[in-house]
Amino acid sequence: MHIVVLPGDGIGPEITAATSGVLRTASERFQLDLRLEEHAVGHASLEQFGATVRPGLLDIVRGADGLILGPTATFDFKDEARGEINPSRYFRKNLDLYANIRPARTYGGGRFGAFDLVVVRENTEGFYADRNMEEGHGELRVTPDVVVSLRRITRTCCERIAHAACRLAMKRQKHLTIVHKANVLKMGDGMFLDICREVARGYPALEVDDVLVDAMMAHAVRNPARFDVIVATNMFGDILSDLTAELSGSLGLGGSLNVGDGHAMAQAAHGSAPDIAGRDVANPASLILSTALLLAWHGERSGEIRYETAARAIEQAVARAIAEGQATPDIGGRLGTIAMGAAVAGMLRSE
Ligand code: NAD
Repeated sequence: MHIVVLPGDGIGPEITAATSGVLRTASERFQLDLRLEEHAVGHASLEQFGATVRPGLLDIVRGADGLILGPTATFDFKDEARGEINPSRYFRKNLDLYANIRPARTYGGGRFGAFDLVVVRENTEGFYADRNMEEGHGELRVTPDVVVSLRRITRTCCERIAHAACRLAMKRQKHLTIVHKANVLKMGDGMFLDICREVARGYPALEVDDVLVDAMMAHAVRNPARFDVIVATNMFGDILSDLTAELSGSLGLGGSLNVGDGHAMAQAAHGSAPDIAGRDVANPASLILSTALLLAWHGERSGEIRYETAARAIEQAVARAIAEGQATPDIGGRLGTIAMGAAVAGMLRSE
């Protein structure tokens, strides 16, 4: 399996190094024959090539079996004409990675009780104005004091994310929750809700309910165990999944996979965390768990069971490392980023 690795900014290089170590161990242990090919992205690429994503990189990624994108300093990238492209948006859009799968589970206890859920977030439209237009930008400055930001919701994108969520729920506890704001965004979220319900009727074994996004914040904190698979439009899913990751113990546990019909990109749910960058304290579990999702995706697609076996083993090794306190300070441990990666790799070796 050929994987392109883009370390990114801030804590990106640290958590990517820890993740690559785990992947190399998994490759030996499960004969995965992984080939990791590293390229610059974000500030490092801007300095070297004059663009945060250099020309030609997309073709390299298209030719690979998977992509690992470390977090990037997207807030810094404001002017595409100066090469300041948002790498996350760029790959999601160009590879049509329409489903963002964001699991959140507790590892022993948890302040909000034990839970295991997945947020399935639409990834290509919604309130993300920078990816809504064929040409031009979906944010307009009407006067110096007035800005209009466009939100796009389409039947096709609602249908495909609904199917992705239903398929996933069928493999889990068969419970789908649709999160929306159809009481206010009557047309956009109204269509999203109707389509999700309509698609879910094609999966009669599913239990389906829906919750308004604002109330969802209270329900998620009060009783996260009541949820299994949650489907949401882009921005609501983005916000909700940061909450569920933090409820599970830390944003540093937030793994995520961006999936389309032909490609997949592992990417931590969080950002480049400049407040802790370069200090060897960032939790690498988010990116390690994301790459486990990537291996499982590749295994399912190629029919090669060893990739799915390796993915399960990595998840178990992360769980064991956390249970034994071999973890970073955000979840109560004393290890650094690299040492936690090494601990996970060690557990993989000894399983
Ligand atoms: P952030 O997600 O980077 O950090 C939020 C908080 O969570 C911080 O306190 C941080 O220290 C903590 N945190 C994040 N990851 C952690 C980890 N692995 N281990 C332990 N703690 C962790 O959000 P921010 O600070 O608002 O954003 C920083 C930059 O990241 C901005 O430029 C933003 O635009 C960008 N961003 C990028 C992505 C992406 O690349 N996918 C996603 C979100 C934000």
